[in-house]
Amino acid sequence: MSSDLVIVYHRQPYEEVEENGRIVLKENSSPNGIVPTLKSFFGAVDHGAWVAWKLADDPSNPEFEQVIEIDDAYGKYSVSRLPLSPHQVREFYHVTSKEAFWPILHSFKERYNYDPVDWPNFREVNWAFAEAAAAEAAQGALVWVHDYNLWLVPGYLRKMRPDLRIAFFHHTPFPSADAFNVLPWRKEIIESLLACDDVGFHIPRYAANFVSAARSLFDLGPVDREPVPDKWLSEGSALMERTVPVGFTYGGRDVSVSVTPVGVDVEYIDEQARSKEAAERTERIRQELGEAKLILSVGRTDYTKGGIEQLASFERVLEANPDLIGKVRLMHVSVSANRNMTAYENIQNEIEQTAGRINGRFGTLDWQPITLISRAIPFVELVSYYRAADVAWITPLADGMNLVCKEFISSRVDGDGVLVLSEFAGAAVELGSAVLTNPFSHRSMDSAILSALKMPNEERHVRMASLREVVQGNSVRDWTPGRLKLNDPNSVPSAA
Ligand code: UDP
Repeated sequence: MSSDLVIVYHRQPYEEVEENGRIVLKENSSPNGIVPTLKSFFGAVDHGAWVAWKLADDPSNPEFEQVIEIDDAYGKYSVSRLPLSPHQVREFYHVTSKEAFWPILHSFKERYNYDPVDWPNFREVNWAFAEAAAAEAAQGALVWVHDYNLWLVPGYLRKMRPDLRIAFFHHTPFPSADAFNVLPWRKEIIESLLACDDVGFHIPRYAANFVSAARSLFDLGPVDREPVPDKWLSEGSALMERTVPVGFTYGGRDVSVSVTPVGVDVEYIDEQARSKEAAERTERIRQELGEAKLILSVGRTDYTKGGIEQLASFERVLEANPDLIGKVRLMHVSVSANRNMTAYENIQNEIEQTAGRINGRFGTLDWQPITLISRAIPFVELVSYYRAADVAWITPLADGMNLVCKEFISSRVDGDGVLVLSEFAGAAVELGSAVLTNPFSHRSMDSAILSALKMPNEERHVRMASLREVVQGNSVRDWTPGRLKLNDPNSVPSAA
């Protein structure tokens, strides 16, 4: 079946669950998140396709059903599952993507581990994704490739199917040329991205970094730039840019560069937050807290999320402000997604040790300063914690966007609550009305959380109203594949 829209994303668009010894495909438990968002685009086309990988003990087994057809609430689409062996998955995902690319994308050069990378395997896996996309795409179809672990797909795809319109979106930061060029495969990666019609990012800084890295390696010629819209000017904050590259010509083709910050599903979260269940759960949480203020921190266990630095700040603040003892509680949700990787296991252990030490130092029989949670909280429950919290404390050292802070804002239908947000989260560019903090500075971190705890009622409401306006004005339902239009085969970028 030929598809007008092909989404290439490494994860499958549903959850595989075992029921009575059989694997069944289930809708993702929450309609919130990137997978349902991407699936919702299938509603706009006659037939769509999704390309992902699937673990296979023996990828050459002829019984493996590669392409399946799905007809669900999102539309009609096929899912092409690439059978990858456990070895291929480890090399492609856990080693190349997570040990080599991830630290560089987030500018942690010292964590970069190059030696174990099996580059031929990375190429093979990306080639297989490109082949599967080429097989599904109709003439002139739009192929929307997602994220750095599929960096080589656009280049391969352009060779296989020059007729296609190719968009690529980065969900992570894109680092400066100084960091990016640490990757020995930098030319191959950039050359592949230059085969796109549109290369997309969350914020102007990442777009600028991409163009600067590309120019350091290839002669791009003149680059078109535009002023950054006022809504993304948060004067003096770390990720702010005043102009943004929008396109250039390379190899006789126009390449557009676009900035489309991902939002959250504002309507869905609003509905959840206003539900009777959420109100009851929020009330129960508040009752348990008594007079204590709740600081909520939610994220994945990852060195980029700055969990350890945040706990250290909390310890310093408790030490310097004995009046807070017994009056404030930190709920620190740090979900480990990669338990089998040493780097993440070490961080999880360090977070547990630090939280344990702080509880040991300051806790009493009836008050523990930190509640540490390392399992994922279902989204509908999380909404109640967002509602119950006095402060959301979101301080990654580097983060492509950060959706948790936007979910918190969307959940605050009461117009109250304070967001303390790292300047190094992409979201900070949109959310200048948050209390912005620099997670690399002790003084900035400690004073930000203290001012949030003491913020007067009126200021809280004024800031939250402004934050809600921004988040409501950028619902994920309005997201687009850069400058390309779904149903218009002529919508390739105009000459730069
Ligand atoms: N999340 C969740 N339960 C948890 C912790 C996180 O459902 O206990 C979800 C959260 O609602 C958000 C996502 O995980 O949608 C994290 O996205 P974000 O962009 O903040 O960070 P990422 O993990 O993608 O870097």
